[in-house]
Amino acid sequence: AARASRAVQGLRAYDPGHDLVALRRRFGEADLVELGSNENPYGPSPAARAAILDQLHALHRYPDPLGADLKRALAARHGVDPGQLLLGNGSHELLMQLAQAFAGPGEEVVFSRYGFAVFALAAQAAGAAPRVAEALPREHAAMPLGHDLDAIAAAIGPRTKLVYLANPNNPTGTWFGRAAFAAFMARVPAETLVVMDEAYAELADPAADVASALPLLPRYPNLALTRTFSKAYGLAGLRVGYLVGVPGLVAVMERLRESFNVNAPALAACEAALGDAGHLRWVSGRNAEQRRALAEALAARGLRVYPSQTNFVLAEFGPRTARIEAALVARGVVLRPMGGYGLPECLRITVGSADENRRLLAALDEVLAETG
Ligand code: PMP
Repeated sequence: AARASRAVQGLRAYDPGHDLVALRRRFGEADLVELGSNENPYGPSPAARAAILDQLHALHRYPDPLGADLKRALAARHGVDPGQLLLGNGSHELLMQLAQAFAGPGEEVVFSRYGFAVFALAAQAAGAAPRVAEALPREHAAMPLGHDLDAIAAAIGPRTKLVYLANPNNPTGTWFGRAAFAAFMARVPAETLVVMDEAYAELADPAADVASALPLLPRYPNLALTRTFSKAYGLAGLRVGYLVGVPGLVAVMERLRESFNVNAPALAACEAALGDAGHLRWVSGRNAEQRRALAEALAARGLRVYPSQTNFVLAEFGPRTARIEAALVARGVVLRPMGGYGLPECLRITVGSADENRRLLAALDEVLAETG
């Protein structure tokens, strides 16, 4: 039989934690509390739904391969040139292609311990060696398990082609600030590309010091960022992400892009979603309020909750974690186990709507009492 390349032989397929299709069938979609995938419980702007319906007459046509209209809208939003933008089938696709384009066998890709899982996958799929920088310790007062930018900078060597950062990061929810990021960029060699995954940027508290790569793009041609319509915009099912970088980087990435990687309804919906700033503000306000309430409720039950600027929280459940998780699934509450990240005593909990969070806490109270 045909054998996969060495790089691919070492990979494991994406594991969503649970068979959600089977669970939806068993509990019914309305009764299953799905808090495992960091989705937006409020859904997209109504304007995005209308834009999709508006596309139904033209489904026999290919979409605009360049997504020019959406790029124009994104360029205006971020104050960049449309030539600095690349669209992806989710930001996941872009993160994978960045490694494919910039790193290969004999070269290294640096990222943090507990950094987003796709970073390791992208490096390995490209045949490059992942180099993991230790995270801030669990005992760290301000940002336990967060990115240690000093350790990441120190891990960059002569063969490091690419550094992935996530700010805020999944699955920890942690973040780093503007001054620390500026100091980090000043240390990175000009030949090393830094990619900042900003999937949760729109959900961060505006008053919190969460660095974005955007203001530093004019200073550093070796810096790029990715964002997504899957989280704050509530369009995970459409699969649209984007990259912002210098035109030269975008031109290189265009070579790897599948011709029609973003479909026509998705392009139209994202453009409409960008135009509805009110919906985005509303989602982000509700999320912040529910995130605070959920973190407080979990802490009140004696659980350690990590700081988060995202739409999820990481919480420690101790040695009973696996039993608690299984008992919650049996009650139709889906969270994300963290064994794959080397955090077997933690669960990642998406911040749901007020009603979902109430149902989660009710089930959790039963389960905590039962597992003693
Ligand atoms: N980056 C981070 C940090 C994420 O958590 C996710 C989604 N889980 C993604 C990227 C990918 O999102 P998408 O492909 O839906 O844009």
